Amino acid sequence: MKIIKKINHLNKYISNVSNIGFVPTMGGLHNGHLSLIKESKKTSDKTLVSIFVNPTQFDKKKDFLTYPRSLKNDLSKLKIKKVDFVFIPTSKEIYYKKRKRKIVINKKYKILCSKFRKGHFEGVLDVIERFLKIIRPKFIFFGEKDYQQYFLIKKYFKKKIKTKIILCKTIRDKNKIALSSRNQLLKKNEIKIASSIAKKLIILKNKIKKNLKNSKNLIQVKNFLTNRFKIKIDYLEIRDKKKLSKNFKKNNFKIFIAYHINKIRLIDNF
Ligand code: AMP
Repeated sequence: MKIIKKINHLNKYISNVSNIGFVPTMGGLHNGHLSLIKESKKTSDKTLVSIFVNPTQFDKKKDFLTYPRSLKNDLSKLKIKKVDFVFIPTSKEIYYKKRKRKIVINKKYKILCSKFRKGHFEGVLDVIERFLKIIRPKFIFFGEKDYQQYFLIKKYFKKKIKTKIILCKTIRDKNKIALSSRNQLLKKNEIKIASSIAKKLIILKNKIKKNLKNSKNLIQVKNFLTNRFKIKIDYLEIRDKKKLSKNFKKNNFKIFIAYHINKIRLIDNF
């Protein structure tokens, strides 16, 4: 496994590889990330994982500073998985050039996290575009856990690049909580709350699948969760999977949630 920090070194290693699978991460690696790597290893000759806590996608500086970092641990996990290349650039390396054109997200997609985290997805699209220009992978892998991220990336890059954008299933723990680097910050009782919320929303999803009328219960569910667990919900919404519009059908929707347990913000979708 080659650990690479500089773009010019990376170029040396990958210039002759035509079939690279790229898994961008911010580290704090867990089985969710590893499932993306597994997918990449299935489809690509070589797998490249980046670990880069991208400052431009954090709307709050404190969130950036407290984001879980565990490089040593991450590298040993990647080594076990026989990843070919790990790219760990500095901010300077990635942002050495100013962008010519500002990234603009269509107003109709200023919903869900895009509404609550100003500049977040603009930062994500910027960094992914920079990575894609450097790496030019054949495939890039994203988790369904961050569905809106996948959706916006797909929209933004569809006509711009040849790289195939692959969506991988959300990996959950035995309590049904979607794995996330941020889960490390949760205390025992907070894990219980996150688990109850996930279970409740899985039940709601199944009910709606059976009968669309059950989607009318969403506000009651939101109030119940807020009062029962003393959490702050940014949003709890049902949207169509393809367009993220509010017009959805029984078999083509997702329930999206973002909430705060104390100071930790979690997102999920079902
Ligand atoms: P992050 O390190 O949080 O930026 O995530 C890197 C990639 O891993 C993103 O494409 C995420 O959607 C994906 N990911 C994070 N958590 C999970 C999970 N529980 N299951 C599947 N993919 C995930």
